[in-house]
Amino acid sequence: MKEKKDNKVHIIGAGISGLVAAIQLEKLGYAPVIIEKDEAIGGRVQTDTIEGFQLDRGFQVLLEAYPKAKEYLDYEALELQALEAGALLFDHGKGKLFGDPLRSIRFLLPMIFSSDASLSDKIKTYRLKKKLGRKSIEDIFAHDEHTTLAYLEKQGFSKRIIENFFQPFFSGIYLEPHLSTSSRMFEFVYKMFGEGKAMIPKKGMGAIPLQLANQFNKTDIQLNCEVENISQNQITLKGGKTIETDFIIVATDPERLMKNYVSSLDWKSCDSLYFSVKERNIAKPIIGLSKRKDSLVNNIFYPTSIATESKGDGDLLSVTVVKKHDYTIDELIAQTTKELAEQFGIDDARFLKHYPIAQALPSMHNIQCSMEVGATMISEGIAIAGDHQLNGSINAAMTSGELAAQMAHKTMAGISHLV
Ligand SMILES: Cc1cc2nc3c(=O)[nH]c(=O)nc-3n(C[C@H](O)[C@H](O)[C@H](O)COP(=O)(O)OP(=O)(O)OC[C@H]3O[C@@H](n4cnc5c(N)ncnc54)[C@H](O)[C@@H]3O)c2cc1C
Repeated sequence: MKEKKDNKVHIIGAGISGLVAAIQLEKLGYAPVIIEKDEAIGGRVQTDTIEGFQLDRGFQVLLEAYPKAKEYLDYEALELQALEAGALLFDHGKGKLFGDPLRSIRFLLPMIFSSDASLSDKIKTYRLKKKLGRKSIEDIFAHDEHTTLAYLEKQGFSKRIIENFFQPFFSGIYLEPHLSTSSRMFEFVYKMFGEGKAMIPKKGMGAIPLQLANQFNKTDIQLNCEVENISQNQITLKGGKTIETDFIIVATDPERLMKNYVSSLDWKSCDSLYFSVKERNIAKPIIGLSKRKDSLVNNIFYPTSIATESKGDGDLLSVTVVKKHDYTIDELIAQTTKELAEQFGIDDARFLKHYPIAQALPSMHNIQCSMEVGATMISEGIAIAGDHQLNGSINAAMTSGELAAQMAHKTMAGISHLV
């Protein structure tokens, strides 16, 4: 009988799902090999240091209530820094506070007097939080799916709060401007926001994959190594080298790797731009949203409003563009700079870096929080992982990696018994 450690398992992709798959395989007694085409681990979750500032590749946050993140991450060691539970709604250079008074007393008066929502809206947001607090994640994902916009209308929210708050806030999360994303995702994210804070590690989001990889004892990671195609028990790398293996976990979209695999996967894109300013105009760590419908900029955030490991000169400003556009990079910077001045009152923004992210989040219907282990198997000896299997979140990426590893184990155990 073959020993577990002698079974070769290869994971393609060192994003969150691939890293969690490796942790899980180690727990089950294997010594997997991760093959990653990039020069670093993390996939969509990486942090660069430029001029001393920490730039996440796309503004993103870890919701501390994510159940899988609690299992796989040591929050204390990540030195998580909390964002405020709300937003500043900007127009004509001025921001108005909009947030949960139960989280922070400083939201109380602005919320009482806020003209961005009716009294009935304010009561409904509170009731929704209570309702979703009682609803399990499994129930949320078992429920009928609508667009988020239809869901909010059905809940009786006014056009005012939808246009002034929900639309800009959730467009930044979904990375699409129409709130056409599933109501299941809305309920899940709303529940997560209600049960914990939005966090960023002190060293940036890239600290998350690094902490996952630090848990490895037997996993080998091969960077700068691109897989060209796979078939049962064989991986072919770019350049022609082939690797024989017992099981493959594809922790990315397999479409280009497998001859007969047809993926129906669509991706949502965004532009992430970074600027430096002499001094930030928002003291607290809170997201700034544009209330203007014609605005290209969806949200701004100062990563230097939380404690960071590395510090640059002045403050760092992150700008996210969600809308589709035909601008060249120079036009995009010019338009963004103009909106920063006109809408957000920031007139000294100096451009630092642009990340065009073509495949930011999977565009999906019938999103799930989990799946049967067997459903990860896409071909003989090949399982799939990645957020695109469930829903576009770090939590889902972790769940999918865990399930694919269990599938590998199930198959290997079968092989072992047969040998
Ligand atoms: C701008 C932005 C904002 C986001 N905001 C949030 C947020 O606030 N909260 C949240 O929970 N989630 C957020 N997400 C989503 C989250 O980042 C993803 O769900 C998660 O990182 C997906 O991990 P993954 O392992 O599924 O995929 P990926 O991170 O895409 O990993 C796939 C890996 O496979 C590698 N690979 C691909 N092809 C090959 C090949 N042929 N050979 C070898 N290697 C290959 C890639 O290089 C990559 O490293 C955001 C994402 C983006 C981009």
